[in-house]
Amino acid sequence: MGDVMKPRMEFLIDLVGSCNLRCPSCPQGNWLGEQNPVGFMAPELLRKIMTKAVSEYQVSCVNLYNWTEPFLHRDLAGMMRIVNSFGARPSLSSNLNLIPNIEAVMAENPLHLVISASGFTQVTYGYTHRKGDINKVKENMEVVAKIRDSMNINTNIYVNYHVYMHNVEDAVLMKEYASSLGFGFNPAWAYMQPLEKVLGYLTGDSQFGEITAEDRELIKNFALPIEKAIAASQKLSNPSCRLRFAQMVLDHTGSAKLCCGVFDPKHANIGNYLDMAAPDLQASRDAHPLCVTCMDHGIHMYSVYAAPELQTLGLSHVIRQRIAALEDIFNLSLQLG
Ligand code: SF4
Ligand code: SF4
Repeated sequence: MGDVMKPRMEFLIDLVGSCNLRCPSCPQGNWLGEQNPVGFMAPELLRKIMTKAVSEYQVSCVNLYNWTEPFLHRDLAGMMRIVNSFGARPSLSSNLNLIPNIEAVMAENPLHLVISASGFTQVTYGYTHRKGDINKVKENMEVVAKIRDSMNINTNIYVNYHVYMHNVEDAVLMKEYASSLGFGFNPAWAYMQPLEKVLGYLTGDSQFGEITAEDRELIKNFALPIEKAIAASQKLSNPSCRLRFAQMVLDHTGSAKLCCGVFDPKHANIGNYLDMAAPDLQASRDAHPLCVTCMDHGIHMYSVYAAPELQTLGLSHVIRQRIAALEDIFNLSLQLG
């Protein structure tokens, strides 16, 4: 099949089954239901996956992460080399608390290195990147910057900053710090993951995902209020989901997933990627019952920040909350309308 005839597909491939952190907005830190397997992907499995991938699709990108920390793989550089050998530059997203063999990893010239963060001071960062050490992250950012400067690489390195109510002021400091190292900065409204938790919250049905007291506290701390964001997403009433046809998500065992947002094995697992022809795999995803419920609630649009008013909603919520706090401190009402 010529490349022009093949569908385009983004790949997200977890090389390991775990993360070193336990963020409360991520299933690695909040999921009480059935767990996914832990372990490491073998190089031979990745080679077979890539061989099949390029035979069936125009592979537009290969992200070596979804729910896990890629630096936990004992030969991350070797796995990146395999992806590079297929002419598809790999991308990484990391909490950057650990960077073993970083020279070898950067020598593979990843397309993107995304540093996920949610604070500049430990008290702020440690709440939403639980078990993480922001001082270690900053040290590692400097190491990465030095290696980048010493090598002929053009990796796009940027901080993906999860914006909550408690960390807005720290965002200014992190942006300055990232910029001093020549890194980009992308603010992203924090939201609850996995998708089943959002369904559990909206429907009150714990068969999707149990909502704990900790989840409710975290949701109150979102800078983008979940109810307003969902209402805006529902207005789009789009009967199609890009995540279902433009993304292929695999775990470290080679199991294909419904999409990047679903975690519970009872919903997420579609089948072994190597054993399924592309049309069969797509047909299984297209017929998945969870998608009907997800789309009914507009979560497929919320997951990709599709509603154009989300920026305004988030910013105005932060500003209103800050003004209310100041009014309280000074015991006056500004009556700004
Ligand atoms: S660092 Fe990323 S993968 Fe790890 S627990 Fe936090 S959000 Fe999840
Ligand atoms: S409709 Fe929802 S569950 Fe289905 S693929 Fe899209 S985001 Fe995932």
